[in-house]
Amino acid sequence: MIIVMQSKASQNDLAHVVSRVESMGLRPHVIVGTERTVVAVVGDEREATSSGMETLPGVASVLPILAPYKVASREVQSEPTVVRAGSLVIGGKNIGVIAGPCSVESREQILETARAVKQLGATGLRGGAYKPRTSPYSFQGMKEKGLELLAEARAETGLAIVTEVVAPEDVTLVARYADVLQIGARNMQNYRLLEAVGKTQVAVLLKRGPAATVEELLLAAEYILDAGNRQVILCERGIRTFETHTRFTLPLATVPWLHARTHLPVVVDPSHGTGHANLVESMAAASIAAGADGLIVEVHPDPKCAASDGGQTLDFVAFEKLMLVCRRVAGALDRSIT
Ligand code: PEP
Ligand code: MN
Repeated sequence: MIIVMQSKASQNDLAHVVSRVESMGLRPHVIVGTERTVVAVVGDEREATSSGMETLPGVASVLPILAPYKVASREVQSEPTVVRAGSLVIGGKNIGVIAGPCSVESREQILETARAVKQLGATGLRGGAYKPRTSPYSFQGMKEKGLELLAEARAETGLAIVTEVVAPEDVTLVARYADVLQIGARNMQNYRLLEAVGKTQVAVLLKRGPAATVEELLLAAEYILDAGNRQVILCERGIRTFETHTRFTLPLATVPWLHARTHLPVVVDPSHGTGHANLVESMAAASIAAGADGLIVEVHPDPKCAASDGGQTLDFVAFEKLMLVCRRVAGALDRSIT
């Protein structure tokens, strides 16, 4: 249910509504918009709709929410959420580019990459220190040492750090270093992990699970929002289909579909979405054309020697070309990459 406040409603009216909602054992999320304030009520709708809320002072109307996700819904907040994490701004007119290696491998590797991608216009630096690998025998990441190297790269370049957290017990540690906590595709439905990152005030990049519907993605985001963290970025990174010409199938219709239903910004990962470096630039440009609010792209000084995902990783020259093409597409749509 959404309680829409009158434009002339006072702070007292709002406080009264909030305490009435709480007294019914429901959770109020107050969303202050540019035009009006609304209270999204989370809990059993039947309790709330029969509660006479519309008669309270300052209440303009009470509407049931049709979508199963509530705080993420456009019905609750019509203007887009802009996520700001250090130098990285994603949403609104701004397109943010996050670039960097799949995994942090060494001091030289991450610093060299950070300097190069910053110079080419990225505002976020990606790099996994904790890696969720399909095989237990593959490189699992540098862990806290990797986080320290990312922090060093941020100190030198000013880039915002985007790095994955794979377990609830690691959230406090990773959040000490990260500007954006990445929830990987394999963990999209790890609800304890979603709640744990939801309790921080660090922005979250939530990747779509390879077998999750977009509605399930929105409900996963809802876990983070409901725990109190409003800084959520959704990420389309491709799904599993019968196709074999790409590593995953990258469905870009999800971008406008999500924009119609949620105020949260949407980023696309054309690296995991294709699995092949030579397809990344085209799909990055197509993502911007489809309305993506940002990109997350794997870049490495020497992709053929990368510890993970080398085949889908761009070198600096290819990344420069990608940025050039994406800036032109963004410009044509009256958006800018900053
Ligand atoms: C990654 O970003 O390197 C990664 C593991 O991505 P995903 O969770 O989308 O597979
Ligand atoms: Mn990767």
